[in-house]
Amino acid sequence: MVTTAPIARPGILSIEAYVPGESKALGNVKPAKLSSNETPLGPSPHAIAAFQAAASELERYPDGQATLLRNALARRYGLDATRIVCGSGSDELLGLLARGYLGPGDEAIYTEHGFLVYRIAILTNGATPVVAPERGLKTDVDAILERVTPRTRVVFVANPNNPTGTYIPIDEVRRLRAGLRDDILLVLDAAYAEYVSRNDYEAGLELVATTTNTVMTRTFSKIHGLAALRIGWAYCPANVADVLNRIRGPFNLSAPAIASGAAAIEDIEHMELAKRHNDEWLPWVVDELTKLGFDVTPSVANFVLFHFKDDAVKTAAAADEYLKSQGVIVRKVGAYGFPNALRMTIGSEDDNKRAIAALAQFLKGAA
Ligand code: PMP
Repeated sequence: MVTTAPIARPGILSIEAYVPGESKALGNVKPAKLSSNETPLGPSPHAIAAFQAAASELERYPDGQATLLRNALARRYGLDATRIVCGSGSDELLGLLARGYLGPGDEAIYTEHGFLVYRIAILTNGATPVVAPERGLKTDVDAILERVTPRTRVVFVANPNNPTGTYIPIDEVRRLRAGLRDDILLVLDAAYAEYVSRNDYEAGLELVATTTNTVMTRTFSKIHGLAALRIGWAYCPANVADVLNRIRGPFNLSAPAIASGAAAIEDIEHMELAKRHNDEWLPWVVDELTKLGFDVTPSVANFVLFHFKDDAVKTAAAADEYLKSQGVIVRKVGAYGFPNALRMTIGSEDDNKRAIAALAQFLKGAA
């Protein structure tokens, strides 16, 4: 009898599984969970009501086209609903884009400190990841263009990027698109779009509408406060929407997700409240971290990356442990190439103050 086990496809075992932000602190205190860029305001009450209403028909399959949600998005942003494809989180859409356009022998580019899901999606499909350096922790369009080869098929750019929070304006995005061959798919991952004060996203959506090779992915996990329901969407050229619709799961969004997402997108006031909260607390957190002596990367999103001095005795790893002991959970970012930095989400007033106070204690030598 042959006793060998099945062998994973080439490349699969070189994937490092994604490790999410932690959610448990030590002890019994309710933690200040600032590790996954979730909103402290929670979802719109209308989204919660829609979720509850959806519970009355759990025996039914959901609408496989997520029509209610796609129409709500189309109305809200003035888009063509036939070009919107929804997914179980934008993670799923990123994976589907890779599956649709990448295979063995192909290359896909992402930036040095880019979101880790790109690498996983590329390797899953047997393609080769190519990493473009950043400049000042920002996407460097020229560095991406220099790494294009005849094998390049896809370029992933998170804008704003996670975990840096940095951003390139629409003119730079246009320059990137113009510099890429037309057969290269440009994926603009705009998970944090709604937090950016510059109104570049409409222009980004317009860019998508006028090309055959540019996609923007968005999520309900961040400003809409629906991370638990896993709702993402992509605005696509018709040809890309067609590819995604052929390969996605037939019912890839649950009925509660479709209903809640549609209600959330219509609650503009709630979204604006979340944006105002971030506009108020992001500068406060940055200021306090700076006063504590950290080097803070300027962010336009709902989180900040702060760096410990290279020669400091007190390191990010020790701070992370101490914060946890105080019920404050932030994100270690070693896997993103930042062994001595931490990323902190902008939370509620209380949670922000708890985090800053705990860091101050740590630096004073409480650890
Ligand atoms: N893109 C970026 C840049 C992110 O930070 C995240 C969430 N961590 C995602 C995509 C995926 O979000 P979701 O799958 O919850 O939509």
